[in-house]
Amino acid sequence: MDEAIENKETTWADCYDAPSSDLFEKVRDFADYAAGIRREGHDFFRRTVYSPNVNRVLMDDPIAGRKREMIMLGSNSYLGLTNHPRVIRASVEAAEKYGYGTGSVSLYSGTTDLHKKLERRLAEFYGCEDAILFPTGYAANVGTISAIMRPRDAIVNDLFNHASIYDGCRLSGAKLHTFAHGKTRHLKRVLSNAVGDGHGTMVITDGVFSMEGDLAKLDEILPLAAEFGARVMVDDSHALGVMGPTGRGTAEHFGLQGKVDITIATLSKALGGIGGCAVGSAQVVDYLRFYARPYFFSGSVPTPIVAGALEILDMIQTQPKIREDLWNSVKYVKAGLTDLGFDIGNSGSAIIPVIVGDEPKLKAFLKDLMDAGIFMNYVAFPAVPKSRCRLRMSMMAGHTRTDLDYVLATMARLGRKYEII
Ligand code: PMP
Repeated sequence: MDEAIENKETTWADCYDAPSSDLFEKVRDFADYAAGIRREGHDFFRRTVYSPNVNRVLMDDPIAGRKREMIMLGSNSYLGLTNHPRVIRASVEAAEKYGYGTGSVSLYSGTTDLHKKLERRLAEFYGCEDAILFPTGYAANVGTISAIMRPRDAIVNDLFNHASIYDGCRLSGAKLHTFAHGKTRHLKRVLSNAVGDGHGTMVITDGVFSMEGDLAKLDEILPLAAEFGARVMVDDSHALGVMGPTGRGTAEHFGLQGKVDITIATLSKALGGIGGCAVGSAQVVDYLRFYARPYFFSGSVPTPIVAGALEILDMIQTQPKIREDLWNSVKYVKAGLTDLGFDIGNSGSAIIPVIVGDEPKLKAFLKDLMDAGIFMNYVAFPAVPKSRCRLRMSMMAGHTRTDLDYVLATMARLGRKYEII
């Protein structure tokens, strides 16, 4: 391991699977690896935040050893509403009325009238009959997939689906088939192998892919699934409040609202809180309430969060200007980065990947960005192939032109320094 650390080729993946009778050998491997990263000033994780997570945040700079203001391009609070006065007021009032948490699972005494109101509002929002609130989006995926899919059934996954979808597939025990990311022709071949008598088949895809920012081609996937008699589940966590003419997500973007069998979304991105939901027919949702283990066996979403999510959902529907501001920023930055010559992949959402393709360069680039007061996310192997390692920018409605011009100027300087453009 020491040798591997020396040659700088080691990644997180190497510390995960080292076979040993000592279960903690991998832990020591990781400690060595992490110490090396920290020594080099390349630890970009868990920097302490001292302010709301909006366009500019107050954050620890562990290298300079002080707090500083940073332009935030690493938050998925796309609408930037977590500290909006309406949201805070609703959260405070909910805490005063119901307490800060429910102290129970949803099925017993953890469902308030606010939870039921949010479930109804989410169902209406997606043009479906009912919705169920989970403690997180992760739990919504794991719980829904493992409740609906049995070991005899078949799941057909886009290769780039979120980790929580893969974990749900594993927990369900269903047979997992994978199609090449975004390739409908391959999906067709995989589907024809996956379907069969005596078992059900479900196609599962992210609506917006979290590492690429591109969209699932629901206009091709839905008819194909119907042709093969398969159900479709879409994880629209990065699309809620962002995609579609009224922010109702990827299906709305394609004019297919209400046509997806099950939609999963998180309350932790555009809705700025914590929690997740599955939306679909009344019967599917009621079934999930009794068979989705992360719902049945976990506490319910705290009421201040539920109240805040209700406010933001309302603002999505009544204040389209917020989404317009977000999209103006997205377009401005994408055009700026493309003009500079960066490879930003094929994003169609508020996530913009900036491909660097070389890990040591990526680390040095990000360190310089942080030194310049800009926070972005670091995405490396095994999350993406080594040759496609990248910076990942998440845009927010509150970014100002001053913020964005500074980001573009800094990207231009560093892009040239590291010979990426
Ligand atoms: N699905 C996708 C596509 C995500 O990106 C995430 C969050 N990383 C989740 C699900 C899980 O959401 P949550 O944070 O609510 O657990």
